[in-house]
Order: sequence, then structure tokens, then C-alpha cells
Amino acid sequence: MPLLDIVGVSSSNKSFYSCFVFLNKENVEDYIWALEIFLEMIGPSSQPLVMVSDRNTTLMKAIACVFPRTTHLLCIWHIQKNIVAKCKNQFTNDEDWDMFLSTWNAVMYAETEASFYEAWHLIELLYKEKHIIQFYLKETWLPYKEKFVTAWIDTYPHFGNRVSSRAEGAHAKLKGYLQVSTGDFAQVASKICLAIENEFQEINTTLESERIRIPHRCRILQFKFLYSCVSRFALGLLYKQYKMVKSGTFKAECSGHFAATMGLPCAHMMNRSKETSLLLDSINSQWRVDKIFLTACDGTEMQNEENGIVGLCDKLLDRYQEAPIFEKKDIEEKLCSLLHALRPVILEPNVQISKGRPRGSLKKNKRKEPISSTRREPSEFELVEASMDKKNKQKVAQTSESLPEIGVLNSMDAYHESNLFGIDMNSYIPSYCPFSPYSL
Ligand SMILES: [Zn+2]
Repeated sequence: MPLLDIVGVSSSNKSFYSCFVFLNKENVEDYIWALEIFLEMIGPSSQPLVMVSDRNTTLMKAIACVFPRTTHLLCIWHIQKNIVAKCKNQFTNDEDWDMFLSTWNAVMYAETEASFYEAWHLIELLYKEKHIIQFYLKETWLPYKEKFVTAWIDTYPHFGNRVSSRAEGAHAKLKGYLQVSTGDFAQVASKICLAIENEFQEINTTLESERIRIPHRCRILQFKFLYSCVSRFALGLLYKQYKMVKSGTFKAECSGHFAATMGLPCAHMMNRSKETSLLLDSINSQWRVDKIFLTACDGTEMQNEENGIVGLCDKLLDRYQEAPIFEKKDIEEKLCSLLHALRPVILEPNVQISKGRPRGSLKKNKRKEPISSTRREPSEFELVEASMDKKNKQKVAQTSESLPEIGVLNSMDAYHESNLFGIDMNSYIPSYCPFSPYSL
């Protein structure tokens, strides 16, 4: 089953998992469905600025449908791989092949539209006899030139991302968690969640560090407003531009590509502003670390649903309260097992065999209890009351037992059987317990 994974780029220029969707089929409808789920996650008002993918025409249609305002770029690494696969067999020696690649690279990395058409005409001229190559390039890549040629794509804020290798790397990392390519949904989802949780912790830690640690070389007057607000990666890029200004090694003419693609002031801008400190407004929000506060999703909405954890706990509590005692114990044991919690081990009580004759044993009509009896010994007040009522009891034809007969005696006995923790029952049973002596 195809798994679509979408990877984002953090302010530290690190990749992070954004979305995983299992697809039934790799058709337009399924891709649209998957991307709509992603859109729902990030919020309809926050469409990505740029998306990079390989030339999967089905996916491309879905991206255009769900993210019409997003700039979609084609991964130049995949383009190069396809060029090798389709064109290399048209050359008999490496020298000619290298020459072709060099000419093609001039097309792909042309910085202006004029230089692009110049390089393209050279291809047409040099390889006019190679019809397969001509046809392939014209049909497959030329229609998408705005999606991969520098002259066009360097007008978009892609933050230096022209390849989809991040997604490849993230996918490889995920495979480390999955270990095998088979498994049911629950297993795979559990492992994906683990990967996401670990990554989340890493990003959060990095983010905390970004706000505290400022690279020593970047502690300059021009950057003073950026401290703790802009990522170290962005500060590093700015520092390179700053060094070019100091050394005078920047190009005389500004192409505008650095500022447009990276969302940061270029050397030309710094040079124009002289010694003025850079303002936060000149930094794209992609690089801001002062405005990002990550909180783990607690799934509150799901928890509150009937079959969410809160709803299930409510049902369990209802059932527990209505259950007979033996079933209550069963529920407790299962919960303890689920939570890996230690449950007090229920042991038989130690039998204290006293030396000498038990008190009151001389009474002729006192029934002798076996030593294994769970019937409790009478309390002191019960013995006193029994003594005081002796005269009245003599009037009764059959002498009663010394224990008071109370409505919940059997239940009390049942509790006594499990009262094995060395804790006095009266002070142990909480007052809201239906068998509590205080509620009698
Ligand atoms: Zn510039």
C-alpha cells in the first residue's frame, strides 16, 4: 500500500515529518484526498509557499488542485537521474556524454531567461541529429522549465530547496523505525508515532537552544536585533553576506536571487544600509525562532469523544461501580496489568498462635472458632456491651453470638478477608465506600 509522506523544513534548516497518508491507489483522486487531509491539518489559510516533488504528473495535478497558490517545483536530482536513464545510451563515449551533461546543466542553471534560451538553442544545434534526445527533452522537460530552471525558480522563496532528497532521507529514517515493510495499520501507525514523537523532542530541544546560543562570529552590531529571534542557520547565511560586504567580494550587480529565495537581506542590501543594524522585518518568518512555540498535540478533541479515552474511562467507571466484588477485582487486575502498575499482592493473613488459653475460652457455651476462620475478633466495646446485656440475654432461650448483627455484616466480612495490608479497616476504607462503617 503506498505511503505518502510529506516533509517540512524547520527554521534550523532541518527536515521534519509533516504528514503520513496511506493511499489506496496512486491516482489523482487519492492524491487529492491525501493532500486535503494535509491541508486540513495545517489550516486552509496556511498554504505552503513552496512544494518540491519529482515529476509525478498525477501528484502534480493534485497539488495544483488542492494548493493553487503554492509554488510547485520539480526536484532537479530526479531530473538528472531521468536524463541519465533516457539519454546516456545515445552516446558512445564518456567525453561526448560529459559534454552533453555540461550543456544541459547550462540550461538547468541558467540565471536569466535570456541565458536559458541561449543554452537551449545550443542543445538544439549540437544534438540536432540525436532525435530521441531532442524529442525527450522537448516533450518531457521543456514544458516544465518554470519549475526547475534557476531563472524562474530563484524568484520564489524555496529557501535553498531544489531537490526532494529531504523526503528521501526522511523516508529512509522512517524505514529504520518500521524495520520491515509489512505490518498492520496499528503497528505501522504506532512506529510512525514513535518516530514523530522523537523528532518532535529533537526539534523542541533545538528550538530552545536556538533562542539561547548565539554564534560568537555573529555577535556584531549589524545583527543585534536578530539575537534570539533568528535561527543560527539563518544568521550563518547572513554572516556570509556580511563578510562579502567587508571583503568587497560581492557581485557588482544584484540578481535579487538570494533575497528572493532565502528571505534574507543580501550583501547588496547590507552594503546600501552601511552600518545600520538589520531589522527583524527584513527576515522571512521561516527563520524566526521567537514566534514558534511547539506544544505536543494532546488529542483533546478525540479524547472527549464517546469512544475517546475520556468516554471509555467513564464507561469503565460505570461498569466498575455496578460490578460485583469479584468482577471489580478482575477489572483492577486488568488495569494494573495495562498500566504496568504494581498491585498489592493478596496474601493469606499470618495466623498469630498465642501462648496459653485464649481469653474467654472457659465459657461453656462459647463456640470454638477454627484458627483458619476469617471471622474477626470482637472489639473491646462489643465485649463490654455483651457483658452489660448479660442479664437480658439470660432471658433469651438461645444465647446469641457476641458480634453485632448489622445489615452489611456479610459485606464487612468480605472486606475483612481482603484487609491484609496491616491497616485498620475503619481508617482504611474511604468514607464514600458503600461498606464504610461511617456510612452505616
Ligand atoms: Zn543582492
